[in-house]
Amino acid sequence: MTCIYNFSAGPSMLPKEVIRKAHKEFKNWCNLGSSVLEISHRSEEFLNLIKKSKQDLRTLLKIPKNYTILFFHGGARGQFAAVPMNLTKKNKIVDYIDSGYWSRQAAQEARKYCTTNIVDVISTKKRKKIILPMKKWVIDNQSDYIHYCPNETIEGLSIYEEPNFKNKKIVGDFSSTLLSRKINIKKYSLIYASAQKNIGTSGITIVILKKKLIQNNNSLTPSILDYNIALKNNSLFNTPVNFSWYLSSLVFKWLKKIGGIKEIEKRNIKKAKILYKFIDKSKLYKNNIHKNNRSCMNVIFQLRNEKLNNLFLKQSQINNLYALKNHKVFGGMRASIYNAMPIKGIKKLIKFMSNFEKKNF
Ligand SMILES: *Cc1c(COP(=O)(O)O)cnc(C)c1O
Repeated sequence: MTCIYNFSAGPSMLPKEVIRKAHKEFKNWCNLGSSVLEISHRSEEFLNLIKKSKQDLRTLLKIPKNYTILFFHGGARGQFAAVPMNLTKKNKIVDYIDSGYWSRQAAQEARKYCTTNIVDVISTKKRKKIILPMKKWVIDNQSDYIHYCPNETIEGLSIYEEPNFKNKKIVGDFSSTLLSRKINIKKYSLIYASAQKNIGTSGITIVILKKKLIQNNNSLTPSILDYNIALKNNSLFNTPVNFSWYLSSLVFKWLKKIGGIKEIEKRNIKKAKILYKFIDKSKLYKNNIHKNNRSCMNVIFQLRNEKLNNLFLKQSQINNLYALKNHKVFGGMRASIYNAMPIKGIKKLIKFMSNFEKKNF
């Protein structure tokens, strides 16, 4: 089989080893003679999977005891609604940091359930996009929590600084951040992530939160998004997305085996570094993000001659480099280089980009 490198932003490439294992077990999981797709979520085997996946995630992220891990359907967008419904009330103010498309989408959803104070944090420095340091964020004194997104998947912008706001609850959309680098869970009250970037495939959604935040909720919160109900039911209030959960459990095992977050972070930094270095040196490609805020997960770039866009996409595809087109709301190119993307894939991409430039520019 030809080797394809898939730069899709999500659902994205999975580790080869995980795919191989899932393939091998597909028809006969845990020696049950059935696929994991056909097994009750209340069976001993599946309950074991749940238990083990939580333990592995706890180990990987060093999640303290006073935090709980919940699993939901509905992706990150489900949590855009669940967070305000569970953590605040209609007449309360919450801070929503605006750093790009996804944080804006989160704020738009939250507006249905509370009053949002939108905090613009995008600035420019020497014609490069930069995120203001947290001490310059204009937070409302009265706000119930601060919501932000540490990696804007579409703009290729990352916030590496960790929050330090006195007496404020911090909520983070970690959909394209979780498991890619070290984070200090204690800095957050709640973080959530859909799985299709670094965790597995779409379906399962992870919420890690301080236990003491969970309370009896207002009666209008749909039960499937209610943290209290999820906690009481071991995240099995209704039938879970079992295959997505299963794949995530394989990803956790794979990550542990290769050396955990420390090792993957090292690899991710290396991958991003060589790609940005190449872009910065080239005459055809450009990236307009300040080095402090460049994403190691989603490397965006534009072609200085936009007429070459279609040719670039066509030829990259022929060269087995897939899905380099950025989201339609933004345009340009994006190489999503999540945990599963090997360094070989980056080298192949650079070689292609370099040849393309020589031939066409
Ligand atoms: C992909 C993504 C989302 C959307 O996730 P869904 O699971 O499709 O709802 C939200 N936020 C960020 C940061 C993302 O990368």
